[in-house]
Amino acid sequence: MITFHIISLFPESFESYLNASIVKRAQERKLIAVKHYNPRDFAVAKNGKKAKTYAERRVDNRPYGGGPGMVMEAMPVIKAIEKAIGKKQEVGSRKQVVRKRKIKIIFFSPAGKQFSNQIAESFKKFTDIVLVCGRYEGIDARVKKAFPMTDISAGPYVLTGGELPAMIVIDSITRRIPGVLGHDSSIEELRVASPDVYTRPEVITYKGKKLRVPKILLSGHHAKMDEWKTNRKER
Ligand code: SAM
Repeated sequence: MITFHIISLFPESFESYLNASIVKRAQERKLIAVKHYNPRDFAVAKNGKKAKTYAERRVDNRPYGGGPGMVMEAMPVIKAIEKAIGKKQEVGSRKQVVRKRKIKIIFFSPAGKQFSNQIAESFKKFTDIVLVCGRYEGIDARVKKAFPMTDISAGPYVLTGGELPAMIVIDSITRRIPGVLGHDSSIEELRVASPDVYTRPEVITYKGKKLRVPKILLSGHHAKMDEWKTNRKER
């Protein structure tokens, strides 16, 4: 089982996607688990005690060096990651358990390595994947000095937060775990799959035009159908 540990200021943004369809079933079948850690829960008030009020639970602050926007403070994020992976001091007493865990920490950044099927496949071997989601101008970079982590980008665009990239990573790794999809062969790159797919009925009419399924897909000739699908993919 892979446990995904999500570090995010907005855990509620994961609810609908992770509680539907294949990812939901994977959790029900205990093939994956999802845990949330909100850095606000690790904020400390001025008196050194756990932050309680809205103002105390704020974990964003002005950036050094100027510039617009706010930056997420390092310590609440570090504490949240510690909670997810277990503190070093605890390792001794839990040696057996900790040794068996293979932990990967992902730091989401538009400047990170572009996520891909190959990376998803390589992450499948971990028992615990920590997903660190930035907001605002990002997270104080010292978080990356506290733990070894991999910078991952969801793509060449800037999003409002790391929550969508985290869902992309969870989804793409989950569908690769044996037993999650109906047939393991359903993983796209392990079979002939086309970007253009059709279903019943054979003919539909839209604005007076008849739109038909390509004849080759009705032929029953598997080699030719695979060739057609491959060509559609390579166009
Ligand atoms: N100022 C930052 C920069 O230029 O790198 C971007 C901050 S962005 C508004 C807020 C957060 O969203 C980032 O810290 C990161 O966690 C996440 N994010 C935005 N776009 C992303 C992408 N393409 N891939 C991964 N994470 C992304």
